[in-house]
Amino acid sequence: MIPRPIQHLLLATLYDAFEQWASTFTFACRKGCATCCTRSVTMTSLEGDGIMAFLAEAGRRSELAAPAFQPAANRRVQCTTNTFVGAHLRGESVEEAESWDLRPCPFLKEESCGIYPVRPFGCRLFASLDSCAASGVAEMPPGYLAGATALLQYIEHLDNGGRWSTMVELLAGLNTGQVDAYGEPTAPIPGLLIAPDEHSLVEPLLQGLHARTVNGQSFAQWLQAARP
Ligand code: SF4
Repeated sequence: MIPRPIQHLLLATLYDAFEQWASTFTFACRKGCATCCTRSVTMTSLEGDGIMAFLAEAGRRSELAAPAFQPAANRRVQCTTNTFVGAHLRGESVEEAESWDLRPCPFLKEESCGIYPVRPFGCRLFASLDSCAASGVAEMPPGYLAGATALLQYIEHLDNGGRWSTMVELLAGLNTGQVDAYGEPTAPIPGLLIAPDEHSLVEPLLQGLHARTVNGQSFAQWLQAARP
């Protein structure tokens, strides 16, 4: 398993590569837009560790005891990103979550994110070419969702031995030391969901990220090293 400090360096490198790629699009998203900030945001325990450290450093860890952070009593086992993609690639039918929890994210305060520097990738990828406040539907440029989904898969793959769930549930688990009760085990990349006509759009993101160096090795080498 890749040591945790290096996993965090890899995560920061991935965030940076994604931000650079996403900046080539013109999105309507502005500070104060918060339609996408719901309790259905998902993440890995690697990202959760970063949030826990941020809250501890700011003396805010007690926030996690608030009722808003209590996970649903009727939680069901869900597909992680990689188990969902694996089933899809094998041609198996995949059960979607029955009802997403679209109540506001507990970190949303006055339309601003209370953990912005450490928000998970599931938040960073939300974007829309048009304002989605009225319709609630985001319009994404071609290839954007495929590239973002590939990076969701990379993060889960790098967090080998970790957990995946909604941010609210994982933080509840991390806060009480019961993360295994709330999260699903992370899975390695089974392949990517990139359509043939999306390859040329997504390749600059993936190839650029693979070539980056982290602690003396390329990102691509670290992806290999994370294979179980
Ligand atoms: S963590 Fe921040 S960006 Fe993510 S859903 Fe919550 S308020 Fe929005």
